[in-house]
Amino acid sequence: MIEHGRFFLPGPTEVQPEILEAMLRPMISHRGAEYEEIMQRVHRRLQPLFGTTRPVYVVAASGTGAMEMAIRNGTRRRVLSVVGGGFGSRFAALAEECGRDVTRLEVPLGDAVCAENVRAALDNGQYDAVTMVHSESSTGVLADVQAVAAVVRERDDVLLLVDGVTSIGGMVIEMDAWGVDFYFTASQKALALPPGLSFAAASERLLARAPTVPDRGYYLDVPKHEQFVKKWQSPVTPPVSLIYALDLQLEEIEREGIVARAERHDAMARTCHHWASSGDRGDLGVCVFPKSPMRSPTVGCFTITRRTPSIVHRMREQGYVIGGGYGELSGSTFRIGHMGDHTVGGVEELLDVLDGVLRTAK
Ligand SMILES: *Cc1c(COP(=O)(O)O)cnc(C)c1O
Repeated sequence: MIEHGRFFLPGPTEVQPEILEAMLRPMISHRGAEYEEIMQRVHRRLQPLFGTTRPVYVVAASGTGAMEMAIRNGTRRRVLSVVGGGFGSRFAALAEECGRDVTRLEVPLGDAVCAENVRAALDNGQYDAVTMVHSESSTGVLADVQAVAAVVRERDDVLLLVDGVTSIGGMVIEMDAWGVDFYFTASQKALALPPGLSFAAASERLLARAPTVPDRGYYLDVPKHEQFVKKWQSPVTPPVSLIYALDLQLEEIEREGIVARAERHDAMARTCHHWASSGDRGDLGVCVFPKSPMRSPTVGCFTITRRTPSIVHRMREQGYVIGGGYGELSGSTFRIGHMGDHTVGGVEELLDVLDGVLRTAK
C-alpha cells in the first residue's frame, strides 16, 4: 500500500482520508429533499470552477463519458479536432465512432495549438464544431483556450467543445467570458476525488442546438440533464456515496479559494520544471518535454533517456507512484501528476526521492 501524500499519478490522483470517509455515510433517496439540498450546494460550488452561470451537470461516468456527451449533443456532421496528444486523439476517434466526419488539425507533440491555424482550418472547411484539449495530460502542454475560443466565436454556427479534465479545478477557468460551448472534467483529476463522476457545462448555444441533433441517446442527453438539474436531481440513480465525497471536497475547495488553488498548482508545476532544468538533471538524462512555454499546471511530462519503466518501478519501491509515458511517449517520458490536494512540500519530497533513484539508476 502507498501512504497518503505519495500518489502522484496523473489520474486518479491522491484522495484525502476524510474525503474517502465521507463515503461511509448511510444511503439516502436521490428523489428526496436531503439529496436536493446537497445538489443545490454542489452546483453553487461547481459553477465558479467552470467560470459559468450555466448549470453544471453531474454525470456518473468517467471523463470520456462527458467527452461523448459533447459530441452527441454538440455536433451534427463535420468536426474539426485539434490533436496534440493522446487525449486530443481520443476526442477525434470518439467523434468518428459516433458517426461524425472528422478532420484532424495535427499539432506536433510538445507544441501548443496556434489559434491562427484553427482560423485557417475553419476558413477551408464546413465544420459545425471544434474539439480541443485544454491540458493535454499525455504531453504536459497547456493550450490557449481563450485564444482559440476568440477565433471560433467569429462564427455563429461553430461550437467549441473543450476537454478540461486536467485543467478545471487546477487553474482559473472562464467558460462564459471565453465563449466555450461545452467544458467538462472528471472527479479523479484536479478535484482530487475518487474516479466515477464527470462534470460538464453547456452554453445556451449548445442547448439550443442539441434538440436538432438526431440520435443523442438517453444517458448523456443534454436537454434531459438540463431539465433535471433545475430540480437538483439527476435523470438516473446517481452514485450517492461519491456525491457525499463531492459535497465535502467542494466545501474544502471553496475554503481554499479558486485563485489560491490555481496559484498552488502553478507553484507545484514551477517546482517540477525548475527541478528538471537545473543542477545535473541534464546529465541524468532528464528534461522538460513540452517545447511550448505553455505548460500544464497539473501534469508534468519529462523526457528521460534511461528506461522509463524501471524509473517508475524503482519509485514504487521507494513508496511513491508516478506515471509512465502515455501512448507514443510511453518509452521516452515519465509524468508527475502534481494536482488536486498535493502541496509544494510534498512535490519537493517526491523530487528528492526521484533524484536518488536517477543517480543510482542503471
Ligand atoms: C484522464 C483524462 C481524460 C478522461 O479519462 P477517463 O479515464 O475517461 O476519466 C480525458 N482527457 C484528459 C486530458 C485526461 O487527462
